Amino acid sequence: MEVDSDEYFKSYEDLDIHELMLKDKARNEAYKNAIFANKHLFQDKIVLDVGAGTGILSIFAAQAGAKKVYAVEASKLFELAREIVKENGFEDVIEVLHCKIEDFTLPDDVEKVDVIVSEFMGFYLLHESMLDSVILARERFLKPNGSMFPDRAIIYISPCRIPSLFEDWENVSGVKMTKFAEQLRKQRTTKPEIASIQSSDLLSDETIIAFLDLNDISTSDLDRFDFNEVIVANKEGRVEGICIWFDVLFPSDNDEIVLSTHPQCESTHWKQTIVPIPENNETVEAFSPIAFKLTIQRHPEHFRRYNILLEILDPYSDEVIHPLPCDCNLT
Ligand code: SAH
Repeated sequence: MEVDSDEYFKSYEDLDIHELMLKDKARNEAYKNAIFANKHLFQDKIVLDVGAGTGILSIFAAQAGAKKVYAVEASKLFELAREIVKENGFEDVIEVLHCKIEDFTLPDDVEKVDVIVSEFMGFYLLHESMLDSVILARERFLKPNGSMFPDRAIIYISPCRIPSLFEDWENVSGVKMTKFAEQLRKQRTTKPEIASIQSSDLLSDETIIAFLDLNDISTSDLDRFDFNEVIVANKEGRVEGICIWFDVLFPSDNDEIVLSTHPQCESTHWKQTIVPIPENNETVEAFSPIAFKLTIQRHPEHFRRYNILLEILDPYSDEVIHPLPCDCNLT
């Protein structure tokens, strides 16, 4: 399967994307705190930054005392990264390299690195499939007891209400727009929504669909995730879709250092991913069962995309209770 795509790297030449990431304080601070809380893992060590972008993570690593940082960036942004590294006075520590990690080789006198840092997360963690490149980097370049930053990732799901696609249309300046909303939902069920949801709109406690140990997983582990269980509503409400979000966790000796995209946490540019269902008129009571099947599967032709298939089931008969399975993907 084709791993590289010029279009993908070209998209990272748009400074708007980097602006969005650099303004994401929760993101920046989580990496910074994780790196600074683990200075002993960075002090005098060799670090590899997979997908360095503007170089911010490489600079955190250098500030934490790294002896050498290889900042690998496939897009043209590497030029700017070099300037930023210089602006921060780390040109003797950080070497910015313009290539895909898949084509990267360490200098002959460096066998392996001590630490890999990377901000690879896409919407619902997996979108863009950059994690595959990070796994490849770990397999090729990380010392056996080296550290991954982050080192774990968890994908969560919960059935939810989606007021922006349902309730908000019951009264638009005094006009009922529920017929409009019906059509809108039909149109929207081909694509997950990236939106911020209120935690009060989640209808169950968080449920884990995937726990990924980044020290251990292989790329084939990322091909498909299935959820097929009955969960319990923690409040009354109408299941209007499924909300997906993720956490990443960093190595830690004490308290966990977590970058969470849970709706209750400080908002991030990933927001939440919502898979809406076209229609549902039934309300569930608190403590009643909600049954659904969710499959997140790598697109057969587009390596960097996933198909998300959702079916809401009758918890007692296992029959599909809403008319259409939602089969969507984010382009
Ligand atoms: N580390 C930066 C940028 C993160 S965005 C930050 O935290 O702000 C991801 C970056 O990784 C993009 O700039 C993208 O061009 C780069 N990238 C993605 N896949 C890559 C690969 N396989 N090899 C090298 N760079 C890659």
